[in-house]
Amino acid sequence: MSHALNIAAANVNAPRIDESTPHALPSLAGMGRAQLREAALACGVEERKAKMRANQLFGWIYHYGSTSFDEMTNIDKETRARLAAHYTLDRPRILERLVSTDGTRKYLIELAPGVECETVFIPDVARSGALCVSSQVGCTLNCTFCHTGTQALVRNLTAAEIVAQVMIARDDLAEWPSSNDDRKVTNIVFMGMGEPLYNLDHVSDSIDTISDPEGMAIGRRRITVSTSGVVPKIAELGTRTNTMLAISLHATNDALRDELVPLNKKYPLKALMDAIRAYPGLNNSRRITFEYVMLKGVNDSLAEARALVKLLKGVPAKINLIPFNPWPNSPYECSDWPQIVAFADLVNKAGYASPIRTPRGRDIFAACGQLRSESKKVKASELKKQRLAEQAAAGQ
Ligand code: SF4
Repeated sequence: MSHALNIAAANVNAPRIDESTPHALPSLAGMGRAQLREAALACGVEERKAKMRANQLFGWIYHYGSTSFDEMTNIDKETRARLAAHYTLDRPRILERLVSTDGTRKYLIELAPGVECETVFIPDVARSGALCVSSQVGCTLNCTFCHTGTQALVRNLTAAEIVAQVMIARDDLAEWPSSNDDRKVTNIVFMGMGEPLYNLDHVSDSIDTISDPEGMAIGRRRITVSTSGVVPKIAELGTRTNTMLAISLHATNDALRDELVPLNKKYPLKALMDAIRAYPGLNNSRRITFEYVMLKGVNDSLAEARALVKLLKGVPAKINLIPFNPWPNSPYECSDWPQIVAFADLVNKAGYASPIRTPRGRDIFAACGQLRSESKKVKASELKKQRLAEQAAAGQ
């Protein structure tokens, strides 16, 4: 059973961007070092001091989680006042916060009017807990087992919007200042809404901020980017981010994968496996994670387990077996438990770690493949019309 908590009471420190206020000031929360430098310059900081001020801002925002410029005592009062006149430190608004009976927390976050994404904190995984972030609102890829795939792409998230998801979770978990002891969010997985490699520039910039040792300091080896197989971008992901790679695999032959992950028609298994074998930095301590959703009577036979072992031969790999998490009108059923265990056993005996992922947050629709928001793509002209109507109604 899930329960919605009182958001205002649960997040006492963090102010929220009020999107209903026209001309709201931009927020520095989520910006990278270069953008912070620009902001400092825009507030009259001299060129020769801009880098230093940006570094100070970076530390306050991402190490201390500051929500007020007044706290920034190593920045002179005049500069703080100018910053406060032009910027805020607000996070995007949380529209809904659900906590599962197993401790999983799901946040529905409003990035702009009508543009919402979901972020999920899963405790007791990895070293302590993992945060599953979204990189797009909706998705273009229509994987048939995935609820997000039923929502048309609204837009890519900016780097700041991806970083803000991490900040929101850390606000909620009272994780400031950043420390290496007793961390709750130790790992970040790009497995929320969207295909990260279709938004690689922003994903890469957000990882620079999230992993920066002077800020939230979540190491690149603790960040995993999952792709459904955008082959031409896989090497670039490794070179630019140096993060761990996960592949949303789910089938061992092209005919079935074409059906489950339609992107396979464009980049079939042979091309995908070649790109994986060439992933920069791949070695035994830096394995690729393969996600394999267990669908009853579809991809869960022992013959398929043997085919999986054959397909991955020579690749340092870990296989996450994911019991299918149903969503309304989903066309599949989860494999029976003994079948999942037998599948795992076969893969395991072949030398691959093949943990069966315990379903988490199913009761709040936070489990793998269940994320979806109600956001729809609205044309810019339509948005403009809506804003004008709102302003007219407010007598402006
Ligand atoms: S599994 Fe990932 S890539 Fe496929 S539809 Fe869902 S969100 Fe998109």
